[in-house]
Amino acid sequence: MLSLPLASCTVEGANSDADSDELRQRIRVAREKLGDRLMILGHHYQRDSIIEHADETGDSFLLAEMAAASKAEHIVFCGVHFMAESADILTGDEQIVTMPNVRAGCSMADMADLPDVASCWNELLDNCGLGDPATREDPDLPAPDGESYLVPVTYMNSSADLKAFVGHHGGVVCTSSNAAGVLGWALERAGKDGKVLFFPDQHLGRNTALQMGYGDDDMAVWNPMLAPDWQALAGATFVLWHGYCSVHQRFNVEQIEELRAMHPDALVIVHPECDREVVEASDASGSTEMIRKFVADAPTGSIIGVGTEIHLVKRLDAQYPDKYVVCLDAGLCPCSTMYMIHPAYLAELLERMVEGEVVNRIVVPKQIADDAILALDRMLAIVA
Ligand code: SF4
Repeated sequence: MLSLPLASCTVEGANSDADSDELRQRIRVAREKLGDRLMILGHHYQRDSIIEHADETGDSFLLAEMAAASKAEHIVFCGVHFMAESADILTGDEQIVTMPNVRAGCSMADMADLPDVASCWNELLDNCGLGDPATREDPDLPAPDGESYLVPVTYMNSSADLKAFVGHHGGVVCTSSNAAGVLGWALERAGKDGKVLFFPDQHLGRNTALQMGYGDDDMAVWNPMLAPDWQALAGATFVLWHGYCSVHQRFNVEQIEELRAMHPDALVIVHPECDREVVEASDASGSTEMIRKFVADAPTGSIIGVGTEIHLVKRLDAQYPDKYVVCLDAGLCPCSTMYMIHPAYLAELLERMVEGEVVNRIVVPKQIADDAILALDRMLAIVA
């Protein structure tokens, strides 16, 4: 894979208005030349100077669907690495998925890697007397009475090889918009005494299981750095990987209390990657798409505290001038990896594309893609 040299983009020096105007113009000219051959996808957490060029915006699930439906020759993914991998898996062999900056990863996704997850999987099978769904004739069917399995579920925020592991073992991908439905599906495939291994975000797993009516004793956390607590693991229906999002970990109950002390009628919505206590103290929790809908549907004059990445919050505030939309953490940084997608990189990527040069291409090897698509297709079938 060819990649754009870091030195070619003076990111820090490209923030003046003059630079912004010049970059905007360069991107527009290249886009025009590429026409229908190009589709730019922008995640909600991207900066405004990227979003203004996106053909479509959305959360990781919506963007995956848009990539799957697109016929464009070039799909430029302005988001983080695992999203572009999913786009490559879901698009045709003749379509080319690229990123303006391939170094834009996700710290949460990086908290679970294939060797650690495979080791956890094998230990759980051995110690908990569970079957591997891959050994069944049709792992897509509910478990037969009396049989118990370990069903893997990975959040969309994971590398392609983990999605492939999940697909191979009869499991499924989920997003923050469909986690409850997906976990319900997985529990049916696990059987009465089976378990779900959920990774990498413990908070989405825990908050969703609580929302489904499960309690603390039904969950145990797996941390590959610590010795397993086999007593807790034996009784748990959900084994939650210890991962977390560094952005959503910044929200706390005190921030909600402070907002309500100043504005008793304030509404609060947070992302389910936040801690359980934060979710429970809020009026609602949901994916970025749900947060957008919550703000859109709130009455005029509402004060809405939002617990998610700052670019989305600021954009919502600008989009609804009749409401006051504020981030719960006044000092919140943007997602540092999403922020690695800069217009300078996008401009250079598109200009080279115009010249017929493909750089920063994301290619998932076929064997991994074939297994990963099983897990993604199961998700798309569940939510269809
Ligand atoms: S906001 Fe959190 S989960 Fe999303 S890309 Fe950034 S680090 Fe990953």
